[in-house]
Amino acid sequence: MISIVRKLALGLLLAIPAWAGQVNAEALAKQNGASFHWFPVQKTFILVSSSDTLKFAIGLPYASNHGQSIDLARAPELQDGHIWLDSADAASLFKTAAAPSSAVTSSSSAIKSSATAKTAASTKPATPKNETAGTREVKTIVIDPGHGGKDTGAQGKKSNEKDIVLSIGKLLKKELEKEGFNVKMTRDKDVFIELGQRANLANQWDGDLFISLHCNAIDATPERKKQIKGYHVYVLRAPESEEDKAIARRENKVATLYGEKNAKEELSPIEWFKLEARLEKYKQNSYMFTEEMLKAMDGGKIKRQAGGVGGAGFMVLVGALMPAVLFEIGFISNEEDEAYMMTDKGQKDIAERISKAVSTYKSAVHSYRETLGR
Ligand SMILES: [Zn+2]
Repeated sequence: MISIVRKLALGLLLAIPAWAGQVNAEALAKQNGASFHWFPVQKTFILVSSSDTLKFAIGLPYASNHGQSIDLARAPELQDGHIWLDSADAASLFKTAAAPSSAVTSSSSAIKSSATAKTAASTKPATPKNETAGTREVKTIVIDPGHGGKDTGAQGKKSNEKDIVLSIGKLLKKELEKEGFNVKMTRDKDVFIELGQRANLANQWDGDLFISLHCNAIDATPERKKQIKGYHVYVLRAPESEEDKAIARRENKVATLYGEKNAKEELSPIEWFKLEARLEKYKQNSYMFTEEMLKAMDGGKIKRQAGGVGGAGFMVLVGALMPAVLFEIGFISNEEDEAYMMTDKGQKDIAERISKAVSTYKSAVHSYRETLGR
């Protein structure tokens, strides 16, 4: 996975800075006893010393150290096959690596605190309202029935995605309230809500878990539609397959279709980089909940599709400052799945299973907190 750019090393002595006061990133790494790793496709690079793991992206004026964001004086640049950092950044980022090992810990925390001060002064990154969502008790559940209004979502032979997910969402709310959860819905009627707004609402409500409900669909021959069925739980992470990518594109399409601000069907490598610190924060809990979903759904009528778990760049999850999943309940393009998702019995069973998963997830978080002594 990691490739060191040897070409850069060869041309090191001939490298001419593109602006005054800049430093060659690879040379800097060497000086400080750090290793240098360049990822050409993503245009990102990492410097790893004994105490720091600093990640950068070309053209982006901040870095991250162990997932913590650090503002840079100037974005790293790629010029003539070399990567350049501002000398001010170079001085503050790497002095820890050069320090004797006894001083590493204290100066490393000095960097972190100066980085925190910078972040606080800058108006750019929105401070998450709920800094600890994920390790605190699970109380508020946000249900997000996908699509709505002019956006029907995927269409089956007899039904629309927007109606199925709304019905199941409402039943899920009832089930969760029976269990004592505080439940919010991004929509409880047939209205259109932008993807970005759904996450905003969840953040305003200070949710502990965000569940976006959807129905999957494929555009294929009748024979293939018959074969492809089942549920799938998605988290926000870089897609590992073309199939997962395609599903995110389909679910994101609504934003570009109706001219939502900042709408796109796919996240760029730079956007993934920007998201990394936040993803890191909620990833463990999103996976914990996914595990519980698999356990709860597996006994049901609709089985796992292709392993049942995936990740991709779902826009509706990008803005949520809490553990979040997008649940594709079943394939509306498959007659069997569609029929089950349309019946009262099927909808109730699905809602009960999701509710069960939320309850067991809550217990898992509770146990985890106890091990932390909270
Ligand atoms: Zn959908």
